[in-house]
Amino acid sequence: MRIAMISEHASPLAVLGEEDAGGQNTHVAELATALAREGHDVRVYTRRDAVELPDVVDTSAGYQVRHVPAGPALRVPKDELLPHMGEFGRWMADQWRNGDWRPDVAHAHFWMSGLATVHAARRTNVPVVLTYHALGSVKRRHQGAKDTSPPGRIGYERALGRAADRVIVQCQDEVGELVRLGVPRSKMTLVPSGVNERMFRPDGPVVPRDPARPRILTVGRMVERKGFQEVVRALPAVPDAECVVVGGPPAELLPADGFARRLTALAEACGVADRVRLVGAVPREEMGAWYRSADLLVAAPWYEPFGLTPLEAMACGVPVVGTNVGGIADSVVDGLTGDLVPPRDSRALGAALRRLLADNVRRFAYATAALDRVRSRYSWKRCAEQLGAIYATVATVGRATPAVV
Ligand code: UDP
Repeated sequence: MRIAMISEHASPLAVLGEEDAGGQNTHVAELATALAREGHDVRVYTRRDAVELPDVVDTSAGYQVRHVPAGPALRVPKDELLPHMGEFGRWMADQWRNGDWRPDVAHAHFWMSGLATVHAARRTNVPVVLTYHALGSVKRRHQGAKDTSPPGRIGYERALGRAADRVIVQCQDEVGELVRLGVPRSKMTLVPSGVNERMFRPDGPVVPRDPARPRILTVGRMVERKGFQEVVRALPAVPDAECVVVGGPPAELLPADGFARRLTALAEACGVADRVRLVGAVPREEMGAWYRSADLLVAAPWYEPFGLTPLEAMACGVPVVGTNVGGIADSVVDGLTGDLVPPRDSRALGAALRRLLADNVRRFAYATAALDRVRSRYSWKRCAEQLGAIYATVATVGRATPAVV
């Protein structure tokens, strides 16, 4: 099948760990790769955010990336991209109508891509599949006045859920959120993300570490909701351990990063500054070596639409302590493949970390069970097969009933 994947701000070619580059970039890159491997003809459409980018990139993974001219050819925070989505959609519509390649299905990632995609698809009679990745209603609930999403996001998300031919949800929690939003349950299919099992495996290189000191690793973008503050606040409960934080801007830019500075100040205030190490952004290919260097991974977000890092750690045979939110509540089976604690509760987190670090047998049991779980449920191949079947269904139905909204 010819599959268009639309990911307006999250290019599969981007550097990860920076503020707007995270799980969605990885997801799109891995999914496109897995679909190409299944024999599909995949094109990813992402916004041109630098002048020097070529129009078309043929990746070694077998899919193509098209840089869409929509808005200025420079980095723009994702919350300021909405005004350019009309242009993005018109450009795709023009390509699909007048070019020599029209997709059988268009799969939009994130609500703004959804807007551009519905715009293009309704003019070219292409069925639309939508993955939200994150929801405005959840962000508003947790961030309140700090939420910089464009006004109207929640309304657009509601409308998109009705306009799309199929909505892919990534965890149980998202089903409930979308039902509350007014998206028909009959449109939703649960297809969790995968994890790259060649990159994330128990054997392979390990970054050097102090063998005498237990290592707690936490990974993610330097944003408040990732809960690094709670991890730092939990450290006094685990007196011997070091805490390594991977992600954020590249190491040389950390001293200028406001969030990194606040985190360092917090570590000083908690008396743990000598045990907290901020590493900055790490290239994706090196992530496995960091996971494998840890005794456990902690993923302590306040909320998490999916959460790739716990799965990546699980695939590396590293036990996880996670907060009981979003996709983490599905991927970590409490007491079997890891421990779940309430979000924003550094006391509960500290107790869980202390207990697990002190219990080698439990860590080993969690790691073994986690590896089984990842292998049986979270492969990208399985994800691509499931989505391939969904695309085939909407493409057939879509031709009979034009996906016009
Ligand atoms: N990541 C990375 N380098 C870093 C930090 C993160 O490659 O320095 C990757 C990490 O391995 C994971 C993704 O970025 O694949 C983060 O995804 P997650 O779902 O945890 O969070 P999101 O960024 O989507 O909120």
